[in-house]
Amino acid sequence: MSAFEYVDGELCAEGVSLAEIAKRHGTPCYVYSRRMLAGAYREFDGAFEGVPHLVCYAMKANSSLAIVDLFARLGSGFDIVSGGELARMVAAGADPRKAVFSGVGKSDAEMEAALAAGILCFNVESASELIHLAAVARRMGVRAPVSFRVNPDVDPLTHPYVSTGLKESKFGVAFADAPALYRRAAAMPSISIRGIDMHIGSQITELGPYREGAGKLLGLVDVLAAEGIVLSHIDFGGGLGIRYRDESPVAVGDYARMLRGLVGGRRETLLFEPGRRLVGEAGVLLTRVRFVKPQAARNFAVVDAAMNDLLRPSLYEAWHAIDPVRPRHIDPGLWDIVGPVCESGDFLGHDRMLALEEGDLLAVRAAGAYAMSMSSNYNARPRACEVLVDGEEAHLIRRRETLAELHAQEARLP
Ligand SMILES: *Cc1c(COP(=O)(O)O)cnc(C)c1O
Repeated sequence: MSAFEYVDGELCAEGVSLAEIAKRHGTPCYVYSRRMLAGAYREFDGAFEGVPHLVCYAMKANSSLAIVDLFARLGSGFDIVSGGELARMVAAGADPRKAVFSGVGKSDAEMEAALAAGILCFNVESASELIHLAAVARRMGVRAPVSFRVNPDVDPLTHPYVSTGLKESKFGVAFADAPALYRRAAAMPSISIRGIDMHIGSQITELGPYREGAGKLLGLVDVLAAEGIVLSHIDFGGGLGIRYRDESPVAVGDYARMLRGLVGGRRETLLFEPGRRLVGEAGVLLTRVRFVKPQAARNFAVVDAAMNDLLRPSLYEAWHAIDPVRPRHIDPGLWDIVGPVCESGDFLGHDRMLALEEGDLLAVRAAGAYAMSMSSNYNARPRACEVLVDGEEAHLIRRRETLAELHAQEARLP
């Protein structure tokens, strides 16, 4: 159940009023619910109880230290996509031995850092990457644990920008090329084959693409086993969607039941890389209406959050629910909720039926995933602060960036 509910006509996060948070910390501000974060993790992890498995939270969805720390304390592993995320998880106190490293373009330095940290596995995405990784590991006198990310060529039926498992995608190795790559890797002394993985896309709301992809993946595991290439884990990736508007997300229980059925009595450890599903609905972006600008053609409400705080509407035309923190009892109108950034693409929502006045607080829902982690300083805007609510308490987990910090790394001409 959502932790963001109206109490006495005012939207709250667990036991804390969002208006209080705005007063104390200012806006824009991301607000997260610890209960929802932990609940989402426990639901996912619990669905695979009884089978050897590891949930590796895809931290690019939200890599704030307190959130990584929270998942680490719950026992989560992590899916990382850069040396920066590795450093972040270590700074948060998480164990790199529970990290899988995904991504098509790992640098030698990133490979070295991950090998030194002793990560669980590299999800390798090309023959070139394998060769580089083998060389780095040989130089360091270690063996690199490897899984190949296989592209099962299934259509995840989602937005093209977040679809990653079609054969036209830059991600993964072609299904047909996988056996030869495994043979090649098996002959490399500095490579240790551990697993296989797929990640077919994001915001997936149907079970079919997973069933199809997983079926193909398991078929490949059998082909490899027949050649004497034995794997210790199978990684089904992430991508489970959430409700932004009227989607009916796949129930975690149904997803788990389907995979448990397919996997049967296999002995490999199952890995998962959920991102959005664990954090998306557990956060809102709190923003204040600066100006109302009713016009003949459209009504604009200019708020203090913008595309640099929440890029998804501009980037994917994504729809986020936008609700007043203290609903007014006046006639509503149709509003475009836009930010101060100098781009016509800077909007948080179009045509929203709302009763608005200058100074009102709004909550942009489902802003826990791909919001802060995708934020930027465009238009020299400091990145917003983050608050994690735990029952009656609100913890500031990231203070607002200062203007001085925005240019602290720069130098003027000599
Ligand atoms: C982004 C990503 C994920 C997480 O995707 P979600 O849609 O947030 O669950 C998992 N694995 C890989 C390899 C990714 O790139």
